[in-house]
Amino acid sequence: MIKNNRSQHALALAATLTAFCTIDLAENYARAAATDSPKTIFIIMDGIPTDVVESVPTPNLDDISGKGGFAPSFVGGEIGGPSESPTVSAVGYQSLLTGTWANKHNVWDNDVDEPNYAYWDIFRIAKAHDSTLSTAVFSTWTDNRTKLIGNGLTDAGGEKLDYYFDGLELDTDRFPHDFLGNYIGDIDKEVVKDAARYVRKNGPDLAWVYLEYTDGVAHVFGDSEVLHATIQTMDAQVGDIWSSVQYRQETFDEDWLIIVTTDHGRDANYGRNHGGQSARERATWIVTNSDRLNERFENTPAIVDILPSIAQHMNLSMPASIQIQLDGQSFID
Ligand SMILES: [Zn+2]
Repeated sequence: MIKNNRSQHALALAATLTAFCTIDLAENYARAAATDSPKTIFIIMDGIPTDVVESVPTPNLDDISGKGGFAPSFVGGEIGGPSESPTVSAVGYQSLLTGTWANKHNVWDNDVDEPNYAYWDIFRIAKAHDSTLSTAVFSTWTDNRTKLIGNGLTDAGGEKLDYYFDGLELDTDRFPHDFLGNYIGDIDKEVVKDAARYVRKNGPDLAWVYLEYTDGVAHVFGDSEVLHATIQTMDAQVGDIWSSVQYRQETFDEDWLIIVTTDHGRDANYGRNHGGQSARERATWIVTNSDRLNERFENTPAIVDILPSIAQHMNLSMPASIQIQLDGQSFID
């Protein structure tokens, strides 16, 4: 890794400190200097059951988890409890974004009629912590920005995104909506291209990439070779983004956390549907490069654990009133 001057200076100072202080103090100083620029990118690959991601070759996910880990995880809240949440896409995204279940964030379906913005999303938390942190969203579904994050809405905390790339599904001239939904695959390609380009060039502090095609293919074909091939294509797309992250890590003094996950599983019969509380619909997975994983990661973390984990990696402080509402805990020390 190429160190910048600031880091070299810190290491030299740390070496000097060793002469006068305890080694611990010097090491702590060096460690703090090396993590001056914690950054995070999280990626949702829509609707891929755990058993499928485990059986289909995904060399890029494997490369990321080789640096950190792979964990079976879950969505859906507590079965029969107040937090039980439909295993529906937007419900899951909002649980990731806010670290809470549907009884709090109030997103119960993909219509997203009345999200409760009292439960802050991760971008709002980041901006409230430090308004100079740069944020970006790359998404095949525009409602992620306009409704779930509520970017620009006063109730949702105003403008929180410095950059976004979405809206392509609304451009029916460029992306005619075919019956099988292949246009979604074409849009994913554009989203990935822009995310890889932007991350490489700008290294945003906090970014979200949302890719949708796997869910549409599964709704049509269910558990099938077509779905497996689509997952392999999406794995390669994640690899393009991961390459940009690695470029940033190697070229600049940046400490990147990447988290890749899915928003729900699928039914056990054919894998076409989701929304209920069956084991396969609730079963999700988390892949990350973090080498600071704690016990929680080994014990089936939930989608609501991702927000506190990102906050931990980025040293984000948040108002006590927001912190106390969180339903998850960090799987990163
Ligand atoms: Zn979904």
